[in-house]
Amino acid sequence: MPARIGVVGFGTIGKRVAEAITRQPDMELVGIVKTKPDYTAELAVKLGYKLYAANQDSLRKFEEAGLPVKGVLEDLLENVDLVVDATPGGVGAKNKTIYEQKGVPAIFQGGEKADVAEVSFNSLCNYEEAIGRRYVRVVSCNTTGLLRILCTLNKAYGLKRVYATIVRRAADPKEIKRGPVNAIKPDPATMPSHHGEDVKTVLRDLDIVTAAVVVPTTLMHVHVVYAKLARQVSNDEVIELLANTPRIVLVEANKGVTSTADIVELARDLGRKRYDIPELIVWRESIVVKGDEMYWMQAVHQESIVVPENIDAIRAMLKLTTNAMDSIALTDKTLGVKRGTLI
Ligand code: NAD
Repeated sequence: MPARIGVVGFGTIGKRVAEAITRQPDMELVGIVKTKPDYTAELAVKLGYKLYAANQDSLRKFEEAGLPVKGVLEDLLENVDLVVDATPGGVGAKNKTIYEQKGVPAIFQGGEKADVAEVSFNSLCNYEEAIGRRYVRVVSCNTTGLLRILCTLNKAYGLKRVYATIVRRAADPKEIKRGPVNAIKPDPATMPSHHGEDVKTVLRDLDIVTAAVVVPTTLMHVHVVYAKLARQVSNDEVIELLANTPRIVLVEANKGVTSTADIVELARDLGRKRYDIPELIVWRESIVVKGDEMYWMQAVHQESIVVPENIDAIRAMLKLTTNAMDSIALTDKTLGVKRGTLI
């Protein structure tokens, strides 16, 4: 019998995770929880998702709007093996009390503090640590992008030290209230940024420092990274390693992929839904290895990169498979996530 999963919060991350669950042969989407009967609630109904209200207050709003609603969050929790909480940062921690009362395991997102869960998670780093756990946090989009490549390099060569500058998108495309509109904003102006600390919730012993700025774009984050490796390697070795790692693809500026706009255009040309790019994108030309030192630039699609990790976290927690690579392979096949190249 497929595992019965609920999704709480149907925004940028929640709607993608919900759809990804419907594509898994070993999972069933029991329902989604929303606060308001807005257009996304109508969309969920059209997609055949069962709708639950966040509380009695919102239940009344759904009923007044004439939308078919199955009950409230607590009713959904009676019928699921696990929930994925994709509510805004801080709400998940509040919801955790309800999950605990109902005895339902839960996945939280990167907007929650690390202590909301027993384990902070990335599939390529620590799948095994999430096996059988009740509360797991899938780290943020930037941390997921960093961890995919850092764990890969660490396993292959060992990592001594990492420094990364994170150039953050100002907002997701649908967000109208965030800036900057015409500025570059240190985020924060003090050093380091929290991203390195977040990486260390998974790669605990890594010596990593990050700094971040926010720029006026909605099209992906870019990271400029320096790493000192534990041994000498060659450029070719690193490129071979990355080209054969799940969820990492190489793009070439020489072939016209010169910016995040080009990456997004390519995803659109490939007919990807919502132009989602769950792969970590690394510019091939940016990879420079000198002995035991390495530099590169990479791009992260904030809206979709954490979706495959949420699916793997479900499999690990419910022990649908205890083998990380089996879960990654199934997730990537069902979601069309590439390795090596986007085309
Ligand atoms: P979002 O605002 O797009 O979606 C959150 C949704 O939850 C909204 O629809 C909101 O109405 C709903 N909601 C609020 N309170 C609720 C409640 N009590 N019950 C049910 N639904 C409720 O936010 P998002 O961007 O999807 O972010 C969700 C989480 O994922 C956050 O922790 C965030 O930090 C993390 N995250 C976001 C991104 C990103 O770039 N958008 C990337 C990675 C991780």
